[in-house]
Amino acid sequence: AQSEKEAALAAIPVDGDAPTIFDKIVNKEIPSTIVYEDDKVLAFRDISPQGPTHILVIPKVRDGLTGLSKAEERHVEILGRLLYVAKLVAKQEKLDDGYRVVINDGKNGCQSVYHIHVHVIGGRQMNWPPG
Ligand code: 5GP
Repeated sequence: AQSEKEAALAAIPVDGDAPTIFDKIVNKEIPSTIVYEDDKVLAFRDISPQGPTHILVIPKVRDGLTGLSKAEERHVEILGRLLYVAKLVAKQEKLDDGYRVVINDGKNGCQSVYHIHVHVIGGRQMNWPPG
């Protein structure tokens, strides 16, 4: 199986507007286990969980936000909402002893899907520094 790092290195985008697998998840063309949804944000379980709980929080509309490094002033509200929803789903998942919130950006960050997403990982003791 392809490692997360190999997937990231293979996924460096050539076209910032190209749709990603997350568009199909938003449109429900491919199934996912949705744990939270509102008009702007979707949260669903990661297909390759890195802990007992691993959820991805994404904006339904990407609006140029392929990754955090592409953030503009107009994205401030959605960026805040993504973090707030991360907190809501952590609470919903009863991660009361703590959890990890991660945004991977670009090649060195091991980003593999170019539609911004916040990872919420918990249910086990995390380590620092990350790999
Ligand atoms: P990144 O490496 O870009 O920070 O995170 C992308 C995440 O998306 C990975 O953790 C990967 O497991 C997850 N992922 C990729 N494809 C799918 C999919 O089709 N469904 C779900 N639920 N997660 C996916």
